[in-house]
Amino acid sequence: MKVEQLKDIDNAINKWFATLDDIIPKLIEEMVTSTKKNRFDLVTNVDKTIQQNFEQYLAEHFPEHQLFAEEKSNADVQPKEGHVWVMDPIDGTTNLVKQQDDYCIILGYFVDGEPMLSYIYDYPKGELYKAVKDNGAYVNSEPLTPPEKLNLEDAIISFNALVLNDATLHQLFDSAFSFRFIGSCGLDSLRVIKGQFGAHINTNPKPWDIAAQFLFAKELGLKMTTLNNEPLDFSTAGPFIISNTACHEHILEIMNSDGGYAKS
Ligand code: NAP
Ligand code: CA
Ligand code: CA
Repeated sequence: MKVEQLKDIDNAINKWFATLDDIIPKLIEEMVTSTKKNRFDLVTNVDKTIQQNFEQYLAEHFPEHQLFAEEKSNADVQPKEGHVWVMDPIDGTTNLVKQQDDYCIILGYFVDGEPMLSYIYDYPKGELYKAVKDNGAYVNSEPLTPPEKLNLEDAIISFNALVLNDATLHQLFDSAFSFRFIGSCGLDSLRVIKGQFGAHINTNPKPWDIAAQFLFAKELGLKMTTLNNEPLDFSTAGPFIISNTACHEHILEIMNSDGGYAKS
């Protein structure tokens, strides 16, 4: 794909993000929450409307592009063929509902399975993060620099403490400088991208939770792998870590020692 073509698409997507500043406050004012699989699995009118709005925008501007997204059936989508947008319309829905803070929109654009453009929009902070294939990463158009090396003993690390067994948890707590968990895979990953955290782990993400992180990791020299240190498939996702290069191996050693991280 030509650089110019990619720029045109990026411009159109930036315009779409700008329209959200009018839409989201009204949606939040009238927020209606419902549950999906269980009482902790939340979805709101904000998630649904943002996704529908983007689907319409794509249909108008790029009718041949497919959408692979959380709040729809993706049965008719071939994620590795042609132009595909992977979207989490609200990542951190629990935070949106309970705190009206610490949520984001995750968007990744893939052509024949290759990441070309990525966005994480931290709406409450008004910060739009973007990565462009072979052209770096930005926040509100300002370039991001690759993070400094962080050894585990100097790093804050992030994961959902509820899903790991006690032995793994304590080994991680003992080895790292400290622990924080925001509760949004996109925003926890951004902390790693900006060099604030050493690593973020999610043991069960779906494609939309990690769609944007691939290109940020590539452009800024971070590690993004399965928890077995293998390449991740964006179309199926599964256990993942995004990490500073200096603590990646050490964390995976801990995750996989003494029978692994899973709860029995
Ligand atoms: P939460 O605030 O609901 O979610 C935290 C982050 O994890 C968000 O990015 C969220 O995306 C994503 N997420 C939601 N459900 C998930 C799941 N089943 N597996 C992996 N990621 C998930 O987190 P919470 O209130 O602490 O937990 C809610 C449920 O999610 C619990 O059942 C928890 O065990 C599970 N969870 C699992 C992991 C993991 O590493 N396996 C991580 C987080 C949460 P959305 O906001 O788009 O839903
Ligand atoms: Ca999510
Ligand atoms: Ca979501």
